[in-house]
Amino acid sequence: MGEAIRRPLPEMFPGSALPDEPWVLHFHCYLLRDRAGRLTLVDTGIGGTDSLASSWAPVPGTLTGELAAAGVAPADVDTVILTHLHSDHASGAVSDGRPLFENARYVVQQAELDAADGLLADRVLTPLKGQLLAVDGDAEVTPGVRVHLTPGHTPGHQIARVGELAVTGDLVLHPVQLDDPAVRYVYDDDQERAAATRAAVLGELRAAHALLATAHFAEPFVRL
Ligand SMILES: [Zn+2]
Repeated sequence: MGEAIRRPLPEMFPGSALPDEPWVLHFHCYLLRDRAGRLTLVDTGIGGTDSLASSWAPVPGTLTGELAAAGVAPADVDTVILTHLHSDHASGAVSDGRPLFENARYVVQQAELDAADGLLADRVLTPLKGQLLAVDGDAEVTPGVRVHLTPGHTPGHQIARVGELAVTGDLVLHPVQLDDPAVRYVYDDDQERAAATRAAVLGELRAAHALLATAHFAEPFVRL
């Protein structure tokens, strides 16, 4: 039965699959600029050639070039929200062993800091030490921008909300999870908890007709 209705993956998920690649991962970070000109960056991507992500992700990342194209220098960024401490989201926070966004506070959930693995702690958290802002649960990190704890993918995973926009990190990895939040991801730390969190949070976001800004979809924005 399933065979009869199944269409090729590239047709079902344009940009997220190729004829010989079942899943093509894209990497997105988001820059928020408020009316006062304050800049908040959500996630920092895979980083440069010396990145922790270099063993598996295409490096160097293109974040600094993209920011420059938007007229933004790293020193202009006021706040960096790290949705979680995986190398494709946090590696770009540092460059040559120093904080890339030299004037920014880096917002991370306390539960995420507590669970950080040694390599990431050494390479990313140690250089950021004086600029880290640990939060616990839900918090407004700059006027109008809130973070919400969404554990499962990692113990201290968080999403960022501003108005109708939700920057979702790895709450959802693949578009299929919008249709069925129970679809599990092999690299969720706690797959059961991740699925429960995904279902609950997507339910709330759907009720609000939120605009999702995803980390890994082919199309960055999805209206629920
Ligand atoms: Zn990711």
